[in-house]
Amino acid sequence: VWFDFNQAVKETMDDLQHTTKKHKLVADFTETGHIYSDKDRISQVITNLITNAIKYSPHTDQIIISTRLKNNEAIACVQDFGIGIPDNKKDRVFEQFYRVSGDKQHTFPGLGLGLYISSEIIKREGGRMWVNSVEGKGSTFCFALPVEGNEQ
Ligand code: ATP
Ligand code: MG
Repeated sequence: VWFDFNQAVKETMDDLQHTTKKHKLVADFTETGHIYSDKDRISQVITNLITNAIKYSPHTDQIIISTRLKNNEAIACVQDFGIGIPDNKKDRVFEQFYRVSGDKQHTFPGLGLGLYISSEIIKREGGRMWVNSVEGKGSTFCFALPVEGNEQ
């Protein structure tokens, strides 16, 4: 269906803000208009990215969720200032069951499926997904979905 991309991101953010007292989910939106996609699946992807951002930033509280429109794509990014991902492991985090092991102070529970499922959903919806990260500084996960010409 057609849905307002920013509104869907905002709804998911508001749901997840209730799950954490420590972290502050900050919206940095620019107008993206409506996209034609599977709203529930896209919300699931945003949920996966935000729950990761919360889980993998145990010592910082800001998580910035941004949206923008660029070259006929609606883009959403989730930025945290947490543990980050080593350079040589970044390419693998979208693989099924792949997990980067935690540091000495922390073990983070999980199956290694969230990003795999998310990237499969985004591919099926005609989009793409990527990550920028610096170990010890934080990560930014983004996805882009095509915006059809005849928006309504
Ligand atoms: P789950 O299946 O519950 O989502 P998971 O969080 O371990 O388990 P993914 O969400 O697929 O699995 O993430 C894969 C791995 O990528 C994680 O185990 C973690 O090592 C790394 N990762 C994902 N998101 C982040 C992040 N925001 N910061 C640092 N590392 C991350
Ligand atoms: Mg996860």
